[in-house]
Amino acid sequence: MARFDTSRRLLAAFALALVSACSSGRPTVPSPVPAATRGTSSIPGARALTVPPLAGFETAVGRGTRTRTGVPGPRYWQQWADYKLSAELNPVSKRMTGSGTITYSNRSPDTLHTVYVQLLQNIFAPNARHNTGVPWSVEGIEFGRVAAQGTTLAAAGGEGPGYEVNGTIMRLRLPKPLVPGGTAELAFDWKLRVPPDGAPRGGQDGEVYYMNYWYPQMAVYDDVNGWQIDQYLGNAEFYMGYGNYDVSLTLPAGWLVTATGTLQNPDEVLTAQTRARLDSARSATGVVHVVTDLDREPGRSTTAGKDGKLTWHFRAEHVRDVSWAASSRYLWDATNAAVGDANNDGRPDTTLIQAFWRPEQRVNHWDESARYSRYSIEFYSKYLWPYPYPHMTAVDGPNSCGGMEYPMMTCIGGQWDTLGMYEVTTHEIGHMWFPMMVGSDEKRFAWMDEGLTQFDQSQSMDEFFKGFDDEERNRKNYLDATSSGTEVELMHHGDRFPSYNAYGVAAYYKPATVMVALRGVLGRDLFRKAFTEYGRRWQYKHPTPYDFFDTFDDVSGRDLSWFWRTWFFETWRLDQAIDSVATVGDSVEIGIENRGRAPMPVPLVVTRADGRADSLTVPVDVWLGGAKRTTVRVAREPTVKSIEIDPGRQFPDVDRDNQRWPR
Ligand SMILES: [Zn+2]
Repeated sequence: MARFDTSRRLLAAFALALVSACSSGRPTVPSPVPAATRGTSSIPGARALTVPPLAGFETAVGRGTRTRTGVPGPRYWQQWADYKLSAELNPVSKRMTGSGTITYSNRSPDTLHTVYVQLLQNIFAPNARHNTGVPWSVEGIEFGRVAAQGTTLAAAGGEGPGYEVNGTIMRLRLPKPLVPGGTAELAFDWKLRVPPDGAPRGGQDGEVYYMNYWYPQMAVYDDVNGWQIDQYLGNAEFYMGYGNYDVSLTLPAGWLVTATGTLQNPDEVLTAQTRARLDSARSATGVVHVVTDLDREPGRSTTAGKDGKLTWHFRAEHVRDVSWAASSRYLWDATNAAVGDANNDGRPDTTLIQAFWRPEQRVNHWDESARYSRYSIEFYSKYLWPYPYPHMTAVDGPNSCGGMEYPMMTCIGGQWDTLGMYEVTTHEIGHMWFPMMVGSDEKRFAWMDEGLTQFDQSQSMDEFFKGFDDEERNRKNYLDATSSGTEVELMHHGDRFPSYNAYGVAAYYKPATVMVALRGVLGRDLFRKAFTEYGRRWQYKHPTPYDFFDTFDDVSGRDLSWFWRTWFFETWRLDQAIDSVATVGDSVEIGIENRGRAPMPVPLVVTRADGRADSLTVPVDVWLGGAKRTTVRVAREPTVKSIEIDPGRQFPDVDRDNQRWPR
């Protein structure tokens, strides 16, 4: 989902980064700082800084599906589903009717007698539980038929074949056991009413339809947790398995339709003019207006269809969901983005970039959307790894979309200036990496998608706006929360935060800030190597937080337990202070105090009268034994003019005033 608080103040726009911590000259060797040791276990007291165990993870390591190095285990498995879905939308009644089959492949070593299906649309059912606002008097999914393994099932409790719906989860008892390596075909006919604006993450506003969570979807059965069947309550997001989708969507002719996946029948639904313009966009240097204001009619943008209708056929591979959007009022812009070598054939690849928007949205800078999307896809493809999907499409949706990510798609609603429009676009596109490609459980570990994406967004904004300091905005939001004592630790279920603000800080701002701190601990190159290796290892898989932690430990060759414990499991504050500066013989002795509970290395810059700045780092190990104070000695000459802890502001210290000498 988009940035968490759309009303936050913009701070220090375009602020330039402060002087780099390592400016010039060779650092004076500090003394008497203890030598750094690898790992914390040899340090007295450091055992307290281990990472608490995660239920199921140790068992998974024992079974060989996970490891303690962050690499998927030799016996790693995950489920798979092939969806064949068709739907028809009636914009007059605002109803959608659907039918389809799911071929569910059991790649687990377990025989399944029961499977679970997510019915996320049921958040709109009367009396549904929810923790965010939803429009009243909509309705949930209404089933005409539910079948499994060729047998029609009845809605009934008990133990025989049948199904029960509890909120957003269907429990489906199979007629025959689904053995390891087997498949089971499920079939559904259903209908739903498309919720009005105000529905979380999609819906219709009378003109545009953003169709999200519109079909029965397999819940995730994984090697660590088994079935994850947490209810969808609105705030916490999703956990979805991977699969291939074949989707046919029937709408009135003249409506433009866009969906996750590749359009299979352009000749049937698009006019020759539209097809020619779309083709030209694949190699254009600028943005091509595929459908303009003058083209929005059957026979001009789309073909005339039969009985006034057209069926659009899409296929998507290796995605965790499919959404689609439609309107009779859309303009269609398209261009392409260079993504690097996405398919490993030694040649550079491109992807199609699209924007679908209403003409009056020009005031919200939708005319820049395709350009912003192209820049974002190209940026992340370089910063992380190449974007592998056939398109990336931004859709002008109902206001209550805010900014919401779907595979290959983002729904964006509301008012934006150019900064905000770039921010929301690049944020949602960042989600194509986390969680669309790296398929974590967003419900239980929101930081794994929102925090990493918030961090990535900052990198993208820094490059697009040439030095825009979005990291500072994240840090301020975190520091405000920790200073006011309202902070909750990151390892917290997304539906169990005491307040929306606490969720926002723990899901977005703190983890983004913690990533900056981790980059400070490891250095930029090693950090990026570990970060992209984590993504590479877990692309199209289901990592837990431990796979993330362990990959960083593994790639860096360091035991960072103290870091994970401090920043992910606790709400300890960081407050490093220069306590005293005194001349001792031919040295200057700097007293440093750790006034908070968070242990971190101390990056120190000593500036001398001749302008030379020496950088040195007090290793974190000095604090892990429980010490609260340490001293560092540097040469007395040339005269020490100033001393500062962490002038690059890599670490989120709660009190910067006590980090400088002279004060
Ligand atoms: Zn997000």
